[in-house]
Amino acid sequence: MTLAADLATRFEQALDTRPETLREAAQDFGHIVQETPLGVLRPRSAAEIQDLLEFAGPRGVPVSVRGGGHSMYGQGQAGGGIVLDLRAMNRVGAVADDRVTVQGGASWREVLAATLPHGRTPPVLTDYLGAGVGGVLSAGGLGGAGHRHGLVADQVLELEVVTGAGEHRVCSPDRDPELFHAVLAGLGQCAVIVTATLRLVPAPARVRRYCLYYAGLTRCLADQRRLAEEQRFTYLEGQARPAGEQGWQYMIEAVAPHDGPCPPDDAALLDGLGHGPAALETEDLGYGEFAHRVDTDEEVLRETGQWLYPHPWLNLLLPHDSAESVVRAVLADPAFRDLRETGVVLLYPLLSGRLRAPLFSRPSGEVLYLFALLRTAPPGSPETVAAMVAANRAAYELARSRGAVAYPVNALPMADADWRDHYGSRHPAFAAAKRRFDPHLVLARGHGLRF
Ligand SMILES: Cc1cc2nc3c(=O)[nH]c(=O)nc-3n(C[C@H](O)[C@H](O)[C@H](O)COP(=O)(O)OP(=O)(O)OC[C@H]3O[C@@H](n4cnc5c(N)ncnc54)[C@H](O)[C@@H]3O)c2cc1C
Repeated sequence: MTLAADLATRFEQALDTRPETLREAAQDFGHIVQETPLGVLRPRSAAEIQDLLEFAGPRGVPVSVRGGGHSMYGQGQAGGGIVLDLRAMNRVGAVADDRVTVQGGASWREVLAATLPHGRTPPVLTDYLGAGVGGVLSAGGLGGAGHRHGLVADQVLELEVVTGAGEHRVCSPDRDPELFHAVLAGLGQCAVIVTATLRLVPAPARVRRYCLYYAGLTRCLADQRRLAEEQRFTYLEGQARPAGEQGWQYMIEAVAPHDGPCPPDDAALLDGLGHGPAALETEDLGYGEFAHRVDTDEEVLRETGQWLYPHPWLNLLLPHDSAESVVRAVLADPAFRDLRETGVVLLYPLLSGRLRAPLFSRPSGEVLYLFALLRTAPPGSPETVAAMVAANRAAYELARSRGAVAYPVNALPMADADWRDHYGSRHPAFAAAKRRFDPHLVLARGHGLRF
């Protein structure tokens, strides 16, 4: 019996092999890599996930989880294997004051929609809320509250998972910590996240958002560092934006909570910062409105069709000491000139001591910066996309030679040696966890890790 026939017999109608389903499962937000699976399963319980992994493991059938589908480079695809589409497992449980348990296929939008009516929020949210819970937790999850609270993954109190070996287990920092720490920021290598219990904190009613503009990068980075260390704001991000024909200006985006009758003290919050005095914008928003700020961009890009164009994105984590030189070199590189027209460049600080998930790689030193080059390629031009991916690779190598690491949600080819370098001294322990929890090495091959 062929594998396809074997699968059809075992999973009968549950296995979706319709051409349009396979086409969708061979796509992601990146629109760069297309790997066609044999079929798609849409489990509704941990038992169904277990069934598949018990079948797939001994037969060596690749299995990838699809949550929100926002991978950039085929990370959630399973060529010749099975895609587990978790979107039907999107339940959000009862909201307690300090926690909520959510299924791995829920989006962060669905999580926030359930917690906000109770005046609660996860302490850290990604900028975009359409990504999946399991996808963000397995990447780590960066956002503007990261300089205070760490990763989105650092807010997880407990996980219910099915390992690659087909074991259904519950783990936490105290219960089976090896598994817990292999799953968070673990790129889906060891287990499928069935549910996650997330820490919640009170959500402010309103926030005041400040955008501070800088002509010079040096002063902007110095102020970003200062604001991260002093923790004046609850949210801190920033961008590089084109200015004039050739140049760039820089922006700090900072947010303070705004509860009750008293507005934030602008003078105290902005004291001593080096932005141009006329280059300040402030805006008061409801917390929910602020958390959903990227939704309008998504709507516009969907309307213009650009949401479905290729997205060769690159996210790097730069050490403080070389951040300025890397940012200058990349922004001056003709291979990234298109960033001036279609891209967004994020540049914001994080504190290493706050990022706790052991598998989350970061550069050395306490202060680091996310440098995200978010580009869109024209459709129907594979040569342009290939050139952009090659430019990503060159920028990665330049940054790495100056101490940077990748935030691994990129359109970036990574060889085995790159992954070993990425995990450094933690690689042997990660490889041991992989062999223990996914002994047939079937899970999440789309990330390109080889153990
Ligand atoms: C518009 C946009 C904005 C973004 N903004 C941010 C941001 O602000 N901060 C940030 O940190 N990231 C951001 N990202 C990156 C995003 O967090 C990652 O790409 C994330 O992995 C996407 O998750 P997904 O479920 O939507 O994607 P998918 O492609 O469905 O999944 C990605 C990978 O996650 C793993 N995975 C998914 N679900 C599970 C599960 N239940 N169990 C185990 N593994 C699982 C799998 O390995 C899969 O390959 C953004 C991406 C986009 C497209």
